[in-house]
Formats: sequence, C-alpha cells, structure tokens
Amino acid sequence: MRVDVAIIGAGIAGASLAAALAGHRSVLLLEREDAPGRHSTGRSAAIFVRNYGKPVLRALNDLSFGPLSEGGYLSPRGVMTIATRDDRPAFDAFMAEAHGVEQITTEEACAAFPLLRPEAANRAAIERAASDIDVDRLMQDHLRAHRAAGGEVWTKAEVTALTHDGRWQISLADGRACSAGTVVNAAGAWADEVARGAHVRPMGIIPYRRSAAILPVEQDIATWPMILPATETWYAKPEAGRLMVSPADEDPVPPQDAWPEDMVIAEGLDRFSQAVDYEITRVTHSWAGLRSFAPDHVPVAGEAPDAPGFYWLAGQGGYGVQTSPALAAHMAALIRGEASPCPDWVENSLSPRRFA
Ligand SMILES: Cc1cc2nc3c(=O)[nH]c(=O)nc-3n(C[C@H](O)[C@H](O)[C@H](O)COP(=O)(O)OP(=O)(O)OC[C@H]3O[C@@H](n4cnc5c(N)ncnc54)[C@H](O)[C@@H]3O)c2cc1C
Repeated sequence: MRVDVAIIGAGIAGASLAAALAGHRSVLLLEREDAPGRHSTGRSAAIFVRNYGKPVLRALNDLSFGPLSEGGYLSPRGVMTIATRDDRPAFDAFMAEAHGVEQITTEEACAAFPLLRPEAANRAAIERAASDIDVDRLMQDHLRAHRAAGGEVWTKAEVTALTHDGRWQISLADGRACSAGTVVNAAGAWADEVARGAHVRPMGIIPYRRSAAILPVEQDIATWPMILPATETWYAKPEAGRLMVSPADEDPVPPQDAWPEDMVIAEGLDRFSQAVDYEITRVTHSWAGLRSFAPDHVPVAGEAPDAPGFYWLAGQGGYGVQTSPALAAHMAALIRGEASPCPDWVENSLSPRRFA
C-alpha cells in the first residue's frame, strides 16, 4: 500500500484531517483499536465552550464554531459559571477574560439549575452560546468523506516503527506494512511513543486522566445548562436525561486505556454535593479518558523540525473535539503547501518548532 499521507490514530484529530484532505491526497488512516474513536474522542463531555483555554485555543474555538454550527453538529446547552462568596476572585478572573458571557443573579442561576444551593452561586454568569457537540455524527461524517474519496481505514493496525528513505516506511504489529510520503502523528496520548518509534524527538506530551460519573435524576433536566465553579473543581452536565458529573481530575498517567478510580469519583461527587441539594444514592456508571497536553498546554500542529514529512497533530488537551475543524483545516493547508487559515500568531503558537 502506497499513499500520499498516512495518519496514525483515528480519533477526532485523525478523522477530521482525513476528511479535510479527501479529494486532494490519497490518505490511509491507521488505528490500533478495532474501531475509530475508542479513546479520548469517545469519552469526552462533548461540549463547545468558546471561553475555554488559553488565547490560542480561544482563537481555534472561534475558527471552529462556523463549521460545527453550519454542519448542524451543535445544539443549545449553555454553560453557567458559579462562585461562592470566598471564590469571587476566581470568578472575577474568569469574567475579565470572557467574551459573550452574561452575569446573572443568584435567583436566575437557581432557576436555570434548580438543584443549585443559593450560597454556591453568590456570583454566576452564563455563556448561552455554549453547545453540545454531536461527536458521533461528526466522526461518522468525517469517515464517510474519507472513504468516499477512496481513503481506507485500517483497524487493528498498531504502528510499531517508522523509517525514512525518502518515503516513510511504516511497520505494523501484525506484520503488515505501508509507505507514505507524509506521516501524521495523531496518536493522542501515545503521540510521543509513536515519535520515538520514528526516531523523531518527542514533544513532552503528557496524558492526564479525567473521570466522569452518571447520576440518575427524577426531574426533566434536558434544558438545564452545564454548570461549573469558577475554581473548576468539578462540573456537571445533562446527558441523555441523567446528570454527568466530573471531578475535573487531572492526574498524570502513562498512555493507557484509562479507567476511573473510585476515590477520585467519590471526592469529586463530594465537592459537587456541597453546591447542590441532591442526595447521591447511586452512580449509574463511570468512565475515564485522557486529556493529553504539551508542556505549554497548547496543541502541537505542524511539521517536525527534525524530520521532514513527519507532522504532529497532538496535545489537544481538553479542547480536541471543539477545535478539530480549525486544526484539521490548518494541517490540511500545511500538508498541501497552502496558506493556513489560522493567523500567523496562532500558526507560530501551534508549531512544533517552538520546542526546538
Ligand atoms: C472526560 C473528558 C472530557 C472531555 N471533554 C471535552 C469537551 O467537552 N470538548 C472538547 O472539545 N474536548 C473534550 N475532551 C478532550 C477531547 O476528548 C480530546 O482532546 C480529543 O478527543 C483528542 O482526540 P485525538 O484524536 O487526538 O485522540 P484519541 O481520540 O485518543 O485518538 C488517538 C487514537 O490513536 C490511536 N493510536 C495510538 N497509538 C497508535 C499506534 N501506535 N498505531 C495506531 N493507532 C494508534 C489510539 O488507539 C486512538 O484511537 C475531553 C476529554 C476527556 C477525557
């Protein structure tokens, strides 16, 4: 198998880039699991929040909003940020950097999220444009576009080694092989491992575990907003008639099929229960996923300075779904030798060269 571009990893990063290159380059998607989207992409909170992350992330959020909204992948949710009297400095810091966020009264906050205790919302603000993302449909549409252009997805295809002899020769664990002019490392938590297998300098990508638990609720909560304290010590979000609560944990772990730890979930639910009038009797189920960050918490997207034809698309942290349209368009432009849709300062911030 000879292709123009081989993409390692079929999460949202790899799938969205494959779709962006469809019809322009021959592309092969290589995925170690038996189906795409099994790791971080299938475990996210699936929310689009413009006021989330550093300025470069917010620029990517803005560039991504149009494609996600025009594609019909967003549905209204809203995100409410709250603070106790003691946590007002964190709230003020959040508001100082926020755009499109409206401060509301304690009464309005409690009306929007009726479980809320008034003292937990001494200050409150809502970003009404925050939306749920239909991640499953987004993934399916990307893979359909990729296949419609003649692209293939190889599953159970673990890349173990890459060598460069003018083209990239790619070896898989099961003995299969392929070659590509360009390789894209979209391996999520495993991105540094893939780089080592290619003798490319790792970027220092560290996976951090984030957990979530589903709680049953009696009320109809479909229209309630997502809610989080300005201190970001937990968050809660309606999820198919039940409440997803995350302890907002950030424990560094080796790349792995992540699972939740009971104690982490229990401590997070305890923090949540201090803000609400809700007796936790049962957790329906829980899970964990990995949010992988570069040392500066900015994605790494561009050609490796030490390996021509080897591109990084990694380190998307907790923003990888909502920033995927902008990152895919940026990467597709670089690979096609065209101008990136991102402003120069964003392109420079994303470049792997910043660690050179
Ligand atoms: C609990 C949680 C909540 C989140 N909430 C949000 C949110 O609300 N909004 C948002 O935008 N983001 C959110 N995120 C972050 C988002 O999920 C990630 O940034 C995004 O999914 C990363 O996508 P990816 O394709 O890089 O990684 P992944 O989805 O992990 O895909 C990487 C793929 O590479 C494959 N792979 C690895 N090594 C190899 C190899 N050697 N050979 C072949 N294949 C390989 C893996 O099997 C995997 O399928 C959340 C994350 C978590 C954990």
